[in-house]
Amino acid sequence: MKIHVITLFPDLFPGPLGESIIGRALDSGVVELYLHNLRDHGEGPHKVVDDTAFGGGPGMVLKAGPLAASIEEARHGTAGGGRSDVPVVLMDPQGERLTQQVVDRFAGLDEMIIIAGRYEGIDERVRQRLVTHEVSIGDYVLTGGELPAMVFIEAIARRVPGVLGGEDSGKADSFASGLLQHPQYTRPAVWEDEAVPEILLSGDHARVDRWRREQSLLRTLQRRPDLLNSVDLLEWEREFLRELGWQS
Ligand code: SAM
Repeated sequence: MKIHVITLFPDLFPGPLGESIIGRALDSGVVELYLHNLRDHGEGPHKVVDDTAFGGGPGMVLKAGPLAASIEEARHGTAGGGRSDVPVVLMDPQGERLTQQVVDRFAGLDEMIIIAGRYEGIDERVRQRLVTHEVSIGDYVLTGGELPAMVFIEAIARRVPGVLGGEDSGKADSFASGLLQHPQYTRPAVWEDEAVPEILLSGDHARVDRWRREQSLLRTLQRRPDLLNSVDLLEWEREFLRELGWQS
């Protein structure tokens, strides 16, 4: 998968994306990251990329020209050399809220261009003409789109086949099945007088699987009951939840 990022601060990358699993995905080329410095397309001798907002008010707005030129540059670096159908994703607090479903949709793409905004955001005409998707990492405002872009890229990259290793990797993670994941334990079996649940030491995989599913249901009911309405549950699972007080 090829990912282009348009940013005023390319030195922030790869940052945390350069470490561990995603770092290896970048090193091996399973995920390719291309950085496009917005400043390279700034206007005039001072390479200006922003200006005050029409109508007044505080803060600066990223200008349309440099953004459009950066998108064009990214498109020329695309697999097809000038592909115009590559999605252009604007990181924006006003965008679609990032969830695992949104991540999975983007993880199926072979290429995308991501814009990291700054200041008051970007000129609306670019949003309307050139941006194809807008993604928010949550209902709060950060100073710039670089951290949101990294969150987005990390979430997508770990869904790209081969990045996490085995085919089943990630399938038990929270949200993958629509539920939160069960609790996890590791050695020692007793830590500060507290033993791990006995069933996990039983070696009985069927019982362990059942226990994990029940714990997953319980956690989801306690922490995110809203998720239960969107999951296909088996009859025993519904019954289990009802006994815990779930009202579907
Ligand atoms: N004035 C804008 C507004 O009120 O909607 C916020 C601009 S914010 C200070 C600057 C940039 O940071 C945005 O253009 C966007 O790229 C990025 N950003 C900030 N918060 C974000 C979020 N929750 N999700 C995605 N991107 C965000």
